[in-house]
Amino acid sequence: MSNISSLIQTNKPIGILGGTFDPIHFGHLRSALELYEHCDLAEVRLIPCGTPPDRPAPQASREARLDMLQLAVADQPGLVVDDREIKRGGISYTIDTLTSLREEVGEQPLCLIIGADRLKTLPDWRHWEQLIALSHLLIMPRPGYVAPTEGPVADLVIEHTINDAALLRHTPAGQIFFSPITQLEIAATDIRDHIKQGRSPRYLLPEPVIHFINKQRLYL
Ligand code: ATP
Repeated sequence: MSNISSLIQTNKPIGILGGTFDPIHFGHLRSALELYEHCDLAEVRLIPCGTPPDRPAPQASREARLDMLQLAVADQPGLVVDDREIKRGGISYTIDTLTSLREEVGEQPLCLIIGADRLKTLPDWRHWEQLIALSHLLIMPRPGYVAPTEGPVADLVIEHTINDAALLRHTPAGQIFFSPITQLEIAATDIRDHIKQGRSPRYLLPEPVIHFINKQRLYL
């Protein structure tokens, strides 16, 4: 391998998909896998939060959500579970997570993966203006959600959007890329409702995760 191609190889971006994962489901997993392949990422790190800053606490414990993630990605190259937010404890702020990742990976590009539904909430995130200096933003379309057309998020999108995923590896941070993915309209809320009402969640999330939920009697 030439020096140039080995440099590009090591410069593949790391994808970061944070969430409550209460529980992890095929909407998360399919998106992560497609982004890994389409955007030629080094890996996608699934990072379950400790206490989310902007929504009620998850129903399942930190440990249970972590275990479910491990079961879900067990045989899938490219998808990796990262427990730093759970270990850090307290409220999980994305800015802290990106800062610690940046310290670890040096100049390797980072791609924070965000569902389009969350894009408009960005100004509520702690130190949100600093996120783009630490990481690229990889935006996944969600049914019914379009990027804001005015206001601070629209300004950010206009200034930073690129049209070619290959450019993500050229700088450590600072670009926004909207990546087409297969849209699976699955939500953890609906899965919890199914279980609570005694209906089967089968085909919405991996079988080993369903077995874990049943064994631990979660979401009843
Ligand atoms: P809940 O229903 O409890 O709000 P959720 O299913 O939306 O949960 P989260 O853990 O909150 O799951 O989501 C983590 C990340 O995954 C967010 O960026 C969210 O936009 C994205 N996401 C959630 N569901 C899907 C899906 N079906 N397809 C693509 N992305 C998704």
